[in-house]
Amino acid sequence: MLDKVLVWFRRDLRDTDHVALDEALRRANRVFCVFIFDPDILRNLPSRTDRRVEFIRESLLELDAALRQRGGGLIVRHARPEEEVPRLAGELGVSSVFFNRDYEPPAKLRDRLVSEALFLSGIGCESFKDQAVFDGQEVLTRSGRPFTIFTPYRKAWLERLAGEDWCSATEHRGLLSKPLQATGMPSLEDLGFAPSGLAEAAVVPGMSGARRCLEHFVGHLAEYQMRRDYPSVDGVSRLSVHLRFGTVSIRELVRYALEGGALRGSEGAFCWLSELVWREFYFMILDNFPRVVTGAFKSGYDALEWEQGEKAEGHFSAWCSARTGYPLVDAAMRQINRTGYMHNRLRMLVASFLTKDLGISWRLGEAYFAQRLIDFDLSANNGGWQWAASTGCDAQPYFRIFNPVRQSERFDPEGEFIRRFVPELSAVPDRFIHAPWLMPSALQSDCGVRIGSDYPLPLVEHEEARRKTLARFAALRRPCSG
Ligand code: FAD
Repeated sequence: MLDKVLVWFRRDLRDTDHVALDEALRRANRVFCVFIFDPDILRNLPSRTDRRVEFIRESLLELDAALRQRGGGLIVRHARPEEEVPRLAGELGVSSVFFNRDYEPPAKLRDRLVSEALFLSGIGCESFKDQAVFDGQEVLTRSGRPFTIFTPYRKAWLERLAGEDWCSATEHRGLLSKPLQATGMPSLEDLGFAPSGLAEAAVVPGMSGARRCLEHFVGHLAEYQMRRDYPSVDGVSRLSVHLRFGTVSIRELVRYALEGGALRGSEGAFCWLSELVWREFYFMILDNFPRVVTGAFKSGYDALEWEQGEKAEGHFSAWCSARTGYPLVDAAMRQINRTGYMHNRLRMLVASFLTKDLGISWRLGEAYFAQRLIDFDLSANNGGWQWAASTGCDAQPYFRIFNPVRQSERFDPEGEFIRRFVPELSAVPDRFIHAPWLMPSALQSDCGVRIGSDYPLPLVEHEEARRKTLARFAALRRPCSG
């Protein structure tokens, strides 16, 4: 039995089904808990009103309250982890620091630096798998290589799930210890930020927020497969931000999908479970192929000649500010700009539009999403962008190019989502809502919108853009070295 252990919380802001905490409570007499705001991460955030910082801070308040109820509390610091973790561990006199593993390259580097600093101070350090049911080395092909195609990966993942006790054992023997001195929670201002309007974005932080999403989603699980593609319909879980910051455990969600009949014939539950497996697929890809952070998974595609120059810059800026003239694309961009969230179908659409209609590099879109998404996750974001751009593993083939008007007709048939986010088109009749530039000018006057001034004309003509994209890809002779 260890005497004292420090648990370092990072993107796992909950006190239940938390592997590092459970292990510490099982193996140590006294357990301290800390979260550290990293000034290097905060400094690099693009805006001083970042929803993620507010989400984390609010979630920490709830976590602290939960730990206090159990006799402990959360120490919160604002300092560089490689200096602060060893310093605090020394102050508290712990023999070891426990934390849950992260798969992002910068986080792996940070964790290595912290482990080395602890080692030099004579303090132990242990990391645990918590963020994923199976991590990057656990689900491999028969020849021991990482999968690069999703369907066989999912099959192997499910086989492993059936054959293993993957639920974390929760056996609490130790006691949570109170922080030595009350340090208090830094205010947003202390951290250099201002309120970001979480409530306006309808995001409830913390474990209670995750619980609320899950309870709301209960009635929709069975129909998930039928409803998930329609952005105006309340058909998805909205749990991504909670998975991102660990205010819910992935194991709890997998259990929930299984109880919902994922492996007993419920198509909705199976489809939702598959999405959770996609999340692990992309963790696994990032862990095994960290080069995707800086280039195409199919490295030959790094030579693609994306549009550049003034015109492309203007197009990129129109895409960012929701002025492409394609209503569903613009509605989607307003959703991310206003709320920090975007529906999955729309993420696919706007990513395809940027890369295949505007011919702009996926790297720019990926970076824009990374700045804006409250659920931003390097692995899923990179995977999603490379999927849409056809440069990734198991990606959309380059010749399958979404037609933004057809996508709009199919997934927002009555224009309900468009009208919600692009109110200047609210009076446009259904038959013109997907391509309002086709509206006769008398009708435009009747609807109170002049296309070309109140709402933009389309930036590009889709068929012409499609031909250019096919030529762009065809110009590369051997693109597929993975
Ligand atoms: P649900 O439909 O309820 O799905 C449940 C969970 O499964 C999600 O919360 C998420 O954790 C996981 N999931 C669902 N779809 C995917 C997927 N395609 N890839 C990986 N995991 C998935 N997801 C992020 O969490 N962070 C990102 O930064 C991110 N960027 C994306 C960028 C692009 C271009 C694309 C096409 C997809 C991206 N996704 C990202 C995946 C997906 O769009 C979101 O996870 C999903 O929209 C979140 O909504 P939800 O929680 O209601 O999902």
